Amino acid sequence: MFGNLYYDGQWKESASKKTMDVTNPATGEKVGTVFAAERQDAAAAVDAAARAFKTWSRLSAADRSAPLYNAYRLLTERADHVARILTMEQGKPLAEARGEVMQAADFLRWYSEEAKRIYGEIIPASSVNKRAHVIRQPIGVVAAITPWNFPASMITRKIAPALAAGCTVVIKPAEATPLTAAALFEIFHESDFPPGVVNLVYGDGPSIGAEFLENRLVKKIAFTGSTKVGKHLIAGSADQVKKVSLELGGHAPFIVFEDADLDQAVEACLISKYRNAGQTCICANRIYVQDTILETFSEKLASRVRSLKLGNGLEQGVEIGPLINEAAYRKVQEHVDDALAKGGKLLAGGKLSQAEGMTGYFYEPTLIGDASPDMKICSEETFGPVAPILTFKTENEAVEQANDSVYGLAAYVFTRDLGRTYRVAEALEYGIVGINDPLPGAAQVPFGGWKESGIGREGGHYGLEPFLEIKYISIGLNDR
Ligand code: ADP
Repeated sequence: MFGNLYYDGQWKESASKKTMDVTNPATGEKVGTVFAAERQDAAAAVDAAARAFKTWSRLSAADRSAPLYNAYRLLTERADHVARILTMEQGKPLAEARGEVMQAADFLRWYSEEAKRIYGEIIPASSVNKRAHVIRQPIGVVAAITPWNFPASMITRKIAPALAAGCTVVIKPAEATPLTAAALFEIFHESDFPPGVVNLVYGDGPSIGAEFLENRLVKKIAFTGSTKVGKHLIAGSADQVKKVSLELGGHAPFIVFEDADLDQAVEACLISKYRNAGQTCICANRIYVQDTILETFSEKLASRVRSLKLGNGLEQGVEIGPLINEAAYRKVQEHVDDALAKGGKLLAGGKLSQAEGMTGYFYEPTLIGDASPDMKICSEETFGPVAPILTFKTENEAVEQANDSVYGLAAYVFTRDLGRTYRVAEALEYGIVGINDPLPGAAQVPFGGWKESGIGREGGHYGLEPFLEIKYISIGLNDR
């Protein structure tokens, strides 16, 4: 496969003609090549977006909605095709990739509908001769930067609300997963967006990022990725007081109380921790189990973890794919070694898989008992299929330990007690709380974090706000 840049409604080469190869993390084989943009290509894409903004922002809501809906329809029709590309370059099992593609499509549909519901307000004025109106207008050109762990849905979760709001967009996907973006843009190309409304540049994060930060035509940066890069973008946007929305790292506690349905909690833990090989910012990172059920829960979970099937995501029945690259594997192994050196007990997994025919970085699904808060795995994001089990005696202790993190993205609680449900949900310092629910995400709900996990929300009507400016219009009436 070959991917061109896309801006001004056309497929383009990069000015330097430089290219980047894309590899399948399961096999190490090259699966495609894309043009690598440099700053001047990104600037050309931003110019195109700025020209298009003049007309796109003035279209009726219905006219902006229509191409978004076309894109939704085409993406659902081609879901299998896009899912295969996604698995080939990212590694997740095909069923998960298809699920992600359908979720990506859902954002397009939901915001094609919500585009029609951007309301203003009339506020009672302080004089009978005045009228106070509030309207909401699109912020301008949006530069979006996305990660490799959800190469389809992270793109539409930004593009769809931005376009619905009347903004135009330049997107830079992660270096590891440009081909899914190319497949999405083939669809956008056929969806009747006017030229320049949606634009795509692949390339190196720091240099394209610098263009986005310094280019005065870019009014807003929407980013999903590491906390480190997020902080860099906050600092870099200060000069022009550029608006930023950030979806950053997480370190999700997964709390199991003694009154929980244990079998349900075990299955939920598998989904929350091991999907996408643990490379998800809302993945369970610390499992807290009440002391009275520690042994039973740990045994049940360990036995299920050992049964998970590792392999090439394109093969039937595979439940865990490879890690994205060697650096990811090294970090996972470092966290496991550190935990074992500090007294952790291996309940399952613990090493790079040596299974036959596997050349990618497959890490065995791993579970560590007797974990303690001083282990790296209990405070740093591992981004791999490894979970530590910790324990607690009381509800307060569980909440205190869960909140002891610089992150505040997602938290999970398993209980059947209604009072406890409310107490704990309200006490957790997290943007998303799943009660007996390991998969809280959806197009219509707000996704985002407290503390160092980010700024702003994506999804639902909340997801439109970062792309809208508020304007207050005070009207003095002629006195007759
Ligand atoms: P990860 O470590 O998971 O790859 P990153 O935060 O490094 O997460 O990457 C997420 C996205 O941010 C990618 O598209 C990457 O190219 C981009 N990126 C990396 N460094 C920078 C930077 N300095 N400025 C802007 N974007 C960057």
